[in-house]
Amino acid sequence: MLVDSHAHLNMTQFDADLPAVIERASLAGIGEMLNVGYDPESIEGTLALVDEYPTIYAALGIHPHNATDWNADLEEKIKQLLLRRKVIAYGEIGLDYYRDLSPRDTQREVFRKQIGLALRFKKPIVVHCREAFDDVIRILNEEGARETGGIFHAFSGGDREAEKVLDLGFLIGIGGTLTYRNSSLPGVATRLPSSAFVLETDCPYLPPEPHRGKRNEPAYVAIVAERLAELRGVAAADIERASSDNYMSLLHGEKERPVSVAYGLRKSVYLNVTASCTNDCVFCARLRSNNQLYGYNLNLVVDPPVDRMVAAVNGILAPGRFEEIVFCGYGEPTARLKAIKETADALRGHGLPLRLNTNGHGNMINRRDIVPELEERFSRVSISLNAPDRGTYTAICRPDAGEKAFDAVLDFIRRAAASRMECMVTAVDYPGVDIEAARRLVESIPGARFRARKYHFTGASG
Ligand code: SF4
Ligand SMILES: [Zn+2]
Repeated sequence: MLVDSHAHLNMTQFDADLPAVIERASLAGIGEMLNVGYDPESIEGTLALVDEYPTIYAALGIHPHNATDWNADLEEKIKQLLLRRKVIAYGEIGLDYYRDLSPRDTQREVFRKQIGLALRFKKPIVVHCREAFDDVIRILNEEGARETGGIFHAFSGGDREAEKVLDLGFLIGIGGTLTYRNSSLPGVATRLPSSAFVLETDCPYLPPEPHRGKRNEPAYVAIVAERLAELRGVAAADIERASSDNYMSLLHGEKERPVSVAYGLRKSVYLNVTASCTNDCVFCARLRSNNQLYGYNLNLVVDPPVDRMVAAVNGILAPGRFEEIVFCGYGEPTARLKAIKETADALRGHGLPLRLNTNGHGNMINRRDIVPELEERFSRVSISLNAPDRGTYTAICRPDAGEKAFDAVLDFIRRAAASRMECMVTAVDYPGVDIEAARRLVESIPGARFRARKYHFTGASG
């Protein structure tokens, strides 16, 4: 299911054909729309819509343009409306220093008051922010908005702003501008953790290409999902699962999903082998995020036994859907060498190539050369190197083994590259890492290929 997390279907642009618009949304797989009322009139319109359509929910609040409308009567009315079942968010509220339709000090004062109401009524906040980023973030922090969380709607900032939004625990709303030429959004959107975004239209405004210049509508969320999938190198179904999961847990308070031991992403089945690692990379999502990846909960409490891993893979394999089985985890699979060998032996019968994702510490951990045991089972190995030299590696990957780990990884890479396995060596383009130097180092090793991976603001995996 896809969700349009920001729509204005009450506006006159939809007067003539709203039922057809809703029908098209449902045919495009949009299972829910959050309609946003931003002034007394659009709040009325929004409430009428949620009463009529089961798939429409409401956010309501007073937009910064209308901040001068704020008064005790309006506040009282909003408090009453916040008690309604289908009113699930507070907004859109915020600051707009671009159009400055209300005095800035009034905007700030009304923004603070409404954050207070959102907290009191436990409603996530839908933020409108134009040319006022620093003030918006400061006020949200000062007022404790982290407690309810929320969505930065129509996000238009860069990396710095995205990191601040994520630090605050808010989600980033991605819409049609993702498809515009000259937009900076694609760069930011590829670096977001998969647990950090929701999709939106802001219809009737901001339609994605090729509908630019016309009216936007919820069905076009599917276009944004396709584009985001393309940019992030995943399937549209992965974006759909991640964005709706992010939305549902924020807006409907859905509980965590059960832990996934095996999960499908792109055309691969991933096996979540372990959560313990001999590195502590600065960019690792393990222990620093909620371990949610594209809507899957990867938060292993104990390492799954062999029979559970085999059953989990068998449970999701569907003929023709996947092209490989990948042994990975937010941890180091070769620390469970016996278990991965037995699991690989049990899964061989499927005829799919088996790949091992590793930090290259396997020989150090097992105190012998394990490459011969691996090449008997795995046809591919991906090794994270992440740095072109010992100093950078030690600083970034923070290995338990200290300085000697880098040489051990290089030795492992040389042996793996000389084996029957296809050997891919990766480095995350973390700020300060000389990716080209890492590439040169890897490409000097016969049989090894290099791939740069995108640094995600709070997690490298996926
Ligand atoms: S990124 Fe990989 S190697 Fe680094 S700490 Fe996380 S799981 Fe271990
Ligand atoms: Zn809006």
